[in-house]
Amino acid sequence: MTVETNHPETLVLHAGFRRDEATNAVAVPIYQTTSYQFDSTEHAENLFALKELGNIYTRIMNPTCDVLEKRVAALEGGVAALAVGSGQAATTFAVLNLCKAGDNFVSSTDLYGGTWNLFSNTLRDIGVEVRFVDPTDPENFRRATDDRTRCYYAETLPNPKLNVFPIREVADIGRELGVPLIMDNTACPIICRPLDHGAAIVMYSTTKYIGGHGTSIGGLIVDGGNFDWEAHRERFPTLNEPDPSYHGAVWTEAVKPLGPIAYIIRARVILLRDLGSPMSPFNAFQFIQGLETLPLRMRAHCENAQKVAEFLTNHPKVTHVIYPTLQDGEFRRRADAHFKGGYGALVGFELEGGREAGGRFINALQLFYHVANIGDARSLAIHPATTTHSQLSPEEQLASGVSDSYVRLSVGIEHIDDILGDLRQALDAA
Ligand code: PLP
Repeated sequence: MTVETNHPETLVLHAGFRRDEATNAVAVPIYQTTSYQFDSTEHAENLFALKELGNIYTRIMNPTCDVLEKRVAALEGGVAALAVGSGQAATTFAVLNLCKAGDNFVSSTDLYGGTWNLFSNTLRDIGVEVRFVDPTDPENFRRATDDRTRCYYAETLPNPKLNVFPIREVADIGRELGVPLIMDNTACPIICRPLDHGAAIVMYSTTKYIGGHGTSIGGLIVDGGNFDWEAHRERFPTLNEPDPSYHGAVWTEAVKPLGPIAYIIRARVILLRDLGSPMSPFNAFQFIQGLETLPLRMRAHCENAQKVAEFLTNHPKVTHVIYPTLQDGEFRRRADAHFKGGYGALVGFELEGGREAGGRFINALQLFYHVANIGDARSLAIHPATTTHSQLSPEEQLASGVSDSYVRLSVGIEHIDDILGDLRQALDAA
């Protein structure tokens, strides 16, 4: 039985799995196995030839990961998903599924530091060129596009700037030119569904809010199934040309009977097969657990973050607070157009006294953890200039919005009085 609904609160509990076929277990079992017995040589042959979908080897697919993939795909309004070992792996796969050496892609400058490094160094080293553009003007994406541009890439709610990305505007430009938009929606599951605004692919570091409890590293890519790869044959050779590593399969044709899943099937059977980095079944189980309470947690995260932003705005030692509801003009309009039910739980601020005061503030925190993470149920704080963004040059730091005195908070779901109490005492000490 499948549950027909669009409500996220129900999907996270029911989509893609009702009970275990083998045991009737209601909780999703952890299928801790590397391989799967074939019924016959014909069965094995059909699985390898993709004539039939089924389990072969856990580097490429696993029944526990499969439930997570189905659940997140349903939540996002996509057609299928792929779970991988980390958010970094998800970003790498999302881009390399379309780009070969000599190709380029256009990315927003407003990125997580690790993604910035991946794009500007590691991908460049293998011949894939990133073209960074300022997303303040969506037309910058059009200007940077040429015949070898394979995709656009951006984060919905990039920290530290917290300027909501103009998904609709850039997706529309991309659809006009035949370029798909890949969105990293890590910081705002539930409150934003990028596919509804025209994005073609969504990726997550499930390490953050989806896991929610700071226990596991993971990543996930969702295929919207809404991009016509065949209408732009020359732009997407990885999907439209015979693949010599898979009996000359043309992915847009080979999987047509299974639905519009050419992109995600290729990511699984080529990139995951060759590059590895699958999600472990145990971590998939943890993410399934996290997902069950995600709508509730996101609501609590967002409510607390709004109160923290208001508190900091009124504090005499704080010179500047960054939170979507405190912005005005075009940035506020973008936040309102793309978000529903909250504005996320990341809050940035600058302190009187610069880097030294920021350091004293962080050292004085007692409830907040000082960690390089976001999206934990617990409240977290960090000084990006000396940590997450420290490998960037001073110019790159400024381009991504990191000033010397900037402190980033990932507001948790503790009682708001305790969160504000800790901030108050740490500000006193700063
Ligand atoms: N995307 C964003 C927005 C992130 O914040 C992070 C990690 O901090 C990543 C991607 C990378 O995810 P992971 O640490 O799971 O590899």
